Amino acid sequence: MASIFTKIVNHEIPSYKIYEDDKTYAFLDINPETKGHTLVVPKVEVDKIYDLSDEDWNALWATVKKVSKHMEEVTGRRIVYKVVGTDVAHAHVHLMPLDENWEYGKTLHLREDEFQSICEKLAFQD
Ligand code: AMP
Repeated sequence: MASIFTKIVNHEIPSYKIYEDDKTYAFLDINPETKGHTLVVPKVEVDKIYDLSDEDWNALWATVKKVSKHMEEVTGRRIVYKVVGTDVAHAHVHLMPLDENWEYGKTLHLREDEFQSICEKLAFQD
């Protein structure tokens, strides 16, 4: 069965899309630890990040860098990463713009309109 992230990439379930290219897709995490918490995923469905081909690995990290630079420019915040992968068996990188106190680790409960407005602020294309 397709992973939830493959379903997002294929638009079978909705997401707050931030960026997309032929190999990767970035969207807001629905349980954000900071405002703008984004996941970058390879379009190919691979469970463990270190099992990606070199090409897909490079594409994933190139998108992480591109999205980070854009996020930093828009938010003025430092962007930090984490790679976990215990909940969803589809490789992904978490990107989190830090708030002024550099706090993360607790889930923020955002309203639909807050997700929408963060998405509008952060979304971009090449
Ligand atoms: P982990 O596998 O531990 O790195 O965490 C998976 C992340 O995916 C969690 O932070 C979830 O909040 C996030 N997540 C799960 N389903 C969705 C979804 N439908 N849209 C956005 N984020 C999701």
